[in-house]
Amino acid sequence: MKYDVIIIGAGPGGIFSAYELMQKRPDLKIAVFEEGNPLEKRHCPIDGKKVKSCIGCKPCSIMNGFGGAGAFSDGKYNITNDFGGTLYEYIGREKALELMHYVDDINMEHGGAGTRIFSTAGTAFKKLCIQNRLTLLDASVRHLGTDINYVVLKNLYAELEPHVDFFFRTPVERIEVIQDGYRVWHADGEDEASRCIVSVGRSGSKWMERVCGELGIGTRSNRVDLGVRVEIPATIFSHITDELYESKIVYRTHKFEDNVRTFCMNPNGIVVNENTNGIVTVNGHSFEDPEKKTENTNFALLVAKHFSLPFRDSNGYGESIARLSNMLGGGVIVQRFGDLERGRRSTERRIEECTVRPTLAATPGDLSLVLPKRLLDGIIEMIYALDKIAPGVANDDTLLYGVEVKFYNMEVKLDENLESCHPGLYIIGDGSGVTHSLSHASASGVYVADRIADTM
Ligand SMILES: Cc1cc2nc3c(=O)[nH]c(=O)nc-3n(C[C@H](O)[C@H](O)[C@H](O)COP(=O)(O)OP(=O)(O)OC[C@H]3O[C@@H](n4cnc5c(N)ncnc54)[C@H](O)[C@@H]3O)c2cc1C
Repeated sequence: MKYDVIIIGAGPGGIFSAYELMQKRPDLKIAVFEEGNPLEKRHCPIDGKKVKSCIGCKPCSIMNGFGGAGAFSDGKYNITNDFGGTLYEYIGREKALELMHYVDDINMEHGGAGTRIFSTAGTAFKKLCIQNRLTLLDASVRHLGTDINYVVLKNLYAELEPHVDFFFRTPVERIEVIQDGYRVWHADGEDEASRCIVSVGRSGSKWMERVCGELGIGTRSNRVDLGVRVEIPATIFSHITDELYESKIVYRTHKFEDNVRTFCMNPNGIVVNENTNGIVTVNGHSFEDPEKKTENTNFALLVAKHFSLPFRDSNGYGESIARLSNMLGGGVIVQRFGDLERGRRSTERRIEECTVRPTLAATPGDLSLVLPKRLLDGIIEMIYALDKIAPGVANDDTLLYGVEVKFYNMEVKLDENLESCHPGLYIIGDGSGVTHSLSHASASGVYVADRIADTM
C-alpha cells in the first residue's frame, strides 16, 4: 500500500495523530487529507464593512483547513475531565489528563511558552458560587489566545510538512474496507493504507453519519446545547476572569430544574459569527495581543437539551432554531437584556444608545421569537444568579446574541482504543462524539497514534 496511515481531517485531532506518529514511528508513511486550505490561505471574507455577514464560502475558512475549527479559536486548552468531552470514559481519567498535559507541553515547545495557565484550585469563587446556587467546575486552562494559537499551528505544520504528505482542498468522499486496510476515495482519486484515522470534527458530522451508515458502525445521538452569547463590559467580570480566565459555572434553574452553564469565556474579546453547514450562529474569541483587546467580555449561556426516543435528530432541532434566527435577522440577532425583559425587540437606535458597544455587527431583534420559552426562562434566571456574584451582569444594556448552538456529533460506537468495529479504523476528536474541545480532541489523536505506533 502507498501509505501506512491515512488521516482524514487536519484539525487538532488529525494534527496530533500525525505529530505523534512522526515522533514515535518516523519509518511510517503518513498522508493527511483535508477539505480546507493550508493555514496561511484561510481567510474569512467578513470584514464588518464590505462583507458584513457570512456568504457561505466553500470550504469555510473558519471551520475547515489546517488547524480545523480551532485555528481561529481563542486557543483555550482546558485540562480537565469535567467538561470538553468524555475521553476518560474510554481511556481512563488519569490517562486522559496525562495526554492533555502532554499536548500542552508540545504546544509550549511550538510557540506557546510564556502564555498563562489558570486554575480553579483553591479559589474563593467556589464558595461564592455555591452560596448563590451556582457550581464552579474544576479545571486548569491554558490560554494561548487566537494569535499565539496561530503561531503554534504554523510551527507544528513546519515540522510536519517534510515528513507527512498533506493534501489540502481534498475532501474524502468515502471509505472502503479492503483486505488488510482501507481505500479512501477523495476529490483527486483514491489512496490506500493499512490504518485509517478519521478526525473530521463538527463540520464533518453529516459526512461521518453517512460513512458510519455505509460501514455498519453503530451511532447514537441525543443532545444539543442552545442558548445565547452574553456581552458585558469587561470590568463587571474582571475579578473572576483575572483569576480564572475561563470559569465554567453551572446553574440549576428553579422553574424547570434544567442546567444552564457558562461556556467559552472571552475576557476583553470579540463576538464572532460561526458557520456550520450554512447556518450562521454566534461564538467568541479573545487575543493575547494587548492591542487587539476590547473593553468587553463575552461568554455563552447554554442549556443542554437531551431527547429521548422516538426523536433522534437533536442537531436537526438545533439547526431549525438557528435557522429561525437567520430567517428573522439574516444571521445572528442581538438584543439588549432590558429589551428582552420588557418584551420588545431591540432596534438599531436602542443598540446605538446602548452603553455596551457591540463587537459584532448583528441584527437588532427579539430573541424571544427564536428561543423556546423554557430555554429563555432558564437563561434569564441564570443572568440574575450571575448578577449576584458579578453585579452588573443583569444590567439593561447587557447584550445577548443569538443563537449560540453547540452541536454534538452523534456518538460513534468505539472500543477502549477508539477503534471502530473495523480493525485499524480509528475515529477520534469531535467527529467521534467523544470530544468537544481542543485538548480532548488533541489528546485523542495522540492516544490512537500511540496505539498504532505500538501495534504496526
Ligand atoms: C470559533 C470557535 C472557537 C472555539 N474555541 C475553542 C476553545 O477556545 N477551546 C476549546 O477547547 N475548543 C474550542 N472550539 C472547539 C474546538 O475548535 C474543537 O473542539 C476542535 O477543533 C475539534 O478538533 P477536531 O480535530 O476533532 O475537529 P476540527 O477542528 O473540526 O477539524 C476537523 C477537520 O476535518 C476536515 N474535514 C471534515 N470533513 C472532511 C472530509 N470529508 N474530508 C477531509 N477533511 C474533512 C475539516 O475541514 C476540518 O479541518 C472552538 C470552535 C470554534 C468554531
